[in-house]
Amino acid sequence: MDLFTFKGGVHPYDGKELSKDNPIKPLKPKNELAYLVSQHIGAPAKPIVAKGDRVLAGQMIAEAGGFVSAPIYASVSGTVKGIEPRLTAVGATCNAIIVENDGLYETVKYTPCDRPESLSKEEIRKKIQEAGVVGMGGAGFPTHVKLTPKEPEKIDYILVNGAECEPYLTSDYRRMLEEPEKVVEGLKVILQLFDNAKGCICIENNKPDCIEKLSAMVENEPRIEVKPLKTKYPQGAERMLIHAVTGRSINSSMLPADAGCVVDNIDTVVAVYKAVILGQPLMHRIVTVTGDAVEHPSNFYVPVGTDFQELLEAAGGLKKPAEKIISGGPMMGFAMFDIHVPVTKTTSALLCMSKDDVSRSETTACINCGKCVSACPEHLLPTKLARFSEHKEEDKFLAYNGMECCECGCCSYVCPAKRPLAQDIKSMRKIVLANRKKK
Ligand code: SF4
Ligand code: SF4
Repeated sequence: MDLFTFKGGVHPYDGKELSKDNPIKPLKPKNELAYLVSQHIGAPAKPIVAKGDRVLAGQMIAEAGGFVSAPIYASVSGTVKGIEPRLTAVGATCNAIIVENDGLYETVKYTPCDRPESLSKEEIRKKIQEAGVVGMGGAGFPTHVKLTPKEPEKIDYILVNGAECEPYLTSDYRRMLEEPEKVVEGLKVILQLFDNAKGCICIENNKPDCIEKLSAMVENEPRIEVKPLKTKYPQGAERMLIHAVTGRSINSSMLPADAGCVVDNIDTVVAVYKAVILGQPLMHRIVTVTGDAVEHPSNFYVPVGTDFQELLEAAGGLKKPAEKIISGGPMMGFAMFDIHVPVTKTTSALLCMSKDDVSRSETTACINCGKCVSACPEHLLPTKLARFSEHKEEDKFLAYNGMECCECGCCSYVCPAKRPLAQDIKSMRKIVLANRKKK
């Protein structure tokens, strides 16, 4: 089997055995739900409901705030309690529409499409836009925008990202194993938009069962193939994936479309399938609840807006105290100080670890071993960049291509001196981006 990959990267303990064999279970929250108006890149959604309104599951409660934005849909039936600021997983606050869940799960009537092949490209994009589909791999970029590149005829690859290279996460794995037909159908819809493209379902070779299942499923699909990838972090990062499969490179000022590619995560492709074929908006996602502190690590099919605390309870709670709780994976996720935050369209996991190895380890002086340089998938010099960040030397940081950092964390992971390289570089990147905005 030919394996596709990139240069650099690391092989952290993957912890996937904790939850990988646990099938997806639907979770029905009991308490109120909070729908953040910013769950995507772009303008916040604008609420179209008011306190006291009764809403149904599948009903739009906030409309898109512009073209680069996405509407929000209620995922349960109930009554709007109000619109108020709520904590987000990254520790910020954001306005949220609060719905008191009546536990009835009354749902609007959807209009499925029996003949998706008869839809025009405009009709497909409109359905995806109206359903509020955004990139569910983390970025939350509105999918209808991604599927509207300037020169669609130049797109020759649709890459479905099934790498799931972040340790501990198994939601994409379960989705590919349990509902592979939805992945294939969603990809076929996307291929309708790009006449010159072929579809590649890209899967790391630590998921041989998914590779086998999907390969068999696309055997008679001339425009689709499965691409097995070498298991290595961050294989699923957009730039690494594009390079591994096509040999093409993009930098931070380019879009995948500049390399003839559209990259969509597994759950996003399924959301496209639901939007176009079933007529259903995006209002659920699969979340992995895992870590050595969790009683029963699980994968849940969760209504957007559910409180993280309910996720943890559904997994049996904590079996031992958690020193570190993360939204997402251990490499790129966000440490949480309060888990009363709502699940959004981009939530992938709740990870509870009994030991926080990072905060326990002592930082010492750099020994110039060069491990961070070898591990960096962007071929940067993390030591220098971190030093420029510490000294706030923006010009030098830019001259050494600091903005090309994809914040993967590989440099911090391999550093024997436990230097917080990625964190320092990330802070400087934030400053540069803020300064650019001001200008
Ligand atoms: S410098 Fe950035 S891209 Fe390179 S390893 Fe560190 S975090 Fe990853
Ligand atoms: S890995 Fe750590 S110790 Fe080694 S060169 Fe990089 S910063 Fe220095």
